[in-house]
Amino acid sequence: MSRHRLVLATRNAGKIEEFRRILEEIAPGTIELIGLERFPDLVDVEETENSFEGNALLKARTVCKQTGLPAIADDSGLCIDALNGAPGIFSARWSGVHGNDAGNIEKVLGQLKGIPREERGAHFTCVSALAMPDGSETTQEGTFKGEILMSPLGSNGFGYDPIFRPDGFELSLAQLDAQQKDAISHRGQSLRAIAPRVALMLDRLG
Ligand code: IMP
Repeated sequence: MSRHRLVLATRNAGKIEEFRRILEEIAPGTIELIGLERFPDLVDVEETENSFEGNALLKARTVCKQTGLPAIADDSGLCIDALNGAPGIFSARWSGVHGNDAGNIEKVLGQLKGIPREERGAHFTCVSALAMPDGSETTQEGTFKGEILMSPLGSNGFGYDPIFRPDGFELSLAQLDAQQKDAISHRGQSLRAIAPRVALMLDRLG
C-alpha cells in the first residue's frame, strides 16, 4: 500500500516530534510526513492573523500552495487567566525573540510574581488545520487546563512545559513522559479528533 504524503508545516522541533508520534499512533504506516527541510527555498509564514484558527489555516494553506501537496499545521499557545489570556497567540515570541523558551518562561514567571496558587489558572490551546490542493480544508481545536507553577520543574517536552501543571497531576508537563503528555495535551486532542478527516481527505486524493 502506498503511503499518503503530507507536509508538516512547522519548523518547531518539539512540535514535529509530537506530530510524528501522535499521527503514527493514530494511523500507523499510512501517512508519510514530509518536513519543511525538504523545501529549503520556502520562506517562513508570518503569523498575521488574530486567532489560533486563523494562523493555523494561514500556515497550512500557504505551504500547500507552495508545495502542491496536502499540508497540516497547527497554531498553539498558553493562555493565562491572570494575564487576561496572554501570551495566547503570541506564546512563541512572548519575550521578544521567536522560540526563546527560557526567555518566555522567565517573562511569564515575572508577570505572575506574587500571584497565589489559586489564581494561577491557565490552559493550552491548539488548532490543527489541514489544507488540500483542491482548496478543501478542515480545522480542529484541542484544549486542556492546569496552573502555572512558581518555578520550572522537569526537562521533557518544550516551550512552557516546565511551568505548567495539568489538572489532576502533581507534576509539571515537563516531568511527564511523552506518552502521558500526548494522552492529555491540546495537540494530542486536536490531532486525534482531526485524524479521521485527514485520512478521508487524503484517501480521496487516491
Ligand atoms: P506557534 O504555534 O508556532 O505559534 O507557537 C506556539 C508556542 O506556544 C510554542 O513556541 C510554545 O512557546 C507554546 N506551546 C505550544 N504548545 C506547547 C506545548 O505543548 N508545550 C509547551 N509550550 C507550548
